[in-house]
Amino acid sequence: MRTKTIAGNWKMNKDFLQTEELIDELKKALSFDLKGVKVIICPPFTSLELAHRLIHGSAIELGAQNMHHEDEGAFTGEVSPTMLKAVGCKYVILGHSERRQYFHESDAFINKKVKKAIAAGLTSIVCFGETLDQREKNITAQVVTAQVRGVLEDIAAENVERLILAYEPVWAIGTGRNATPQQAEEVHVLVRKLLGEMYTASTAERVIIQYGGSVKPENAAELLWQPNVDGALVGGACLKADSFAGIIKAAAR
Ligand code: PEP
Repeated sequence: MRTKTIAGNWKMNKDFLQTEELIDELKKALSFDLKGVKVIICPPFTSLELAHRLIHGSAIELGAQNMHHEDEGAFTGEVSPTMLKAVGCKYVILGHSERRQYFHESDAFINKKVKKAIAAGLTSIVCFGETLDQREKNITAQVVTAQVRGVLEDIAAENVERLILAYEPVWAIGTGRNATPQQAEEVHVLVRKLLGEMYTASTAERVIIQYGGSVKPENAAELLWQPNVDGALVGGACLKADSFAGIIKAAAR
């Protein structure tokens, strides 16, 4: 049985004081029975240590939004997996479409990071998804297949089972236009089938595949209760405690 997993990607939002405010509000908003739903927040690097202290004793877990694939060295501006672990991160988002688009991260580069995260004992939330142009050209399946194969290259089944994959159609991110539950389920089925081909059916059954792209309390339930949708990666709606809690509530139904 796959645990419904809701992760909030704060992106480049919330300074130190705002982090404290949002986490305080979120802890209050999460006073209902979570029914085993996993809740992860991914604040910016500058707020990780504070967030770690503030979530102590709550059901909220901590992730980062990116990392470098080396432990240390002359990589100005980068943050390593060991540094993330030292501030209490268990998760790291890798290959987000904004990193692919603005920082030119390729599947091969993301694959290096995923391997490093595994070695460091961090669970990656590995993102993939097609652009609007690719969807309109009817090449979603090919694009998604190539991305999943690329980011998982040479990663053994026992490690893949512990990853989280996040299907995030680029046209749905931050646009207010979510994929329909059927569109999401269709791609999740395709990815699970692909994992079955790359590994085994039992590995494919174990991998958590989140959907991301304009998830909000109003559309969360129908997306989250598709048979192959195991949670959500949430951007905009995680910046308001009530909205994020509303999505979590839909997963805990
Ligand atoms: C995201 O950036 O991962 C995301 C899903 O954003 P939003 O929910 O705002 O579409």
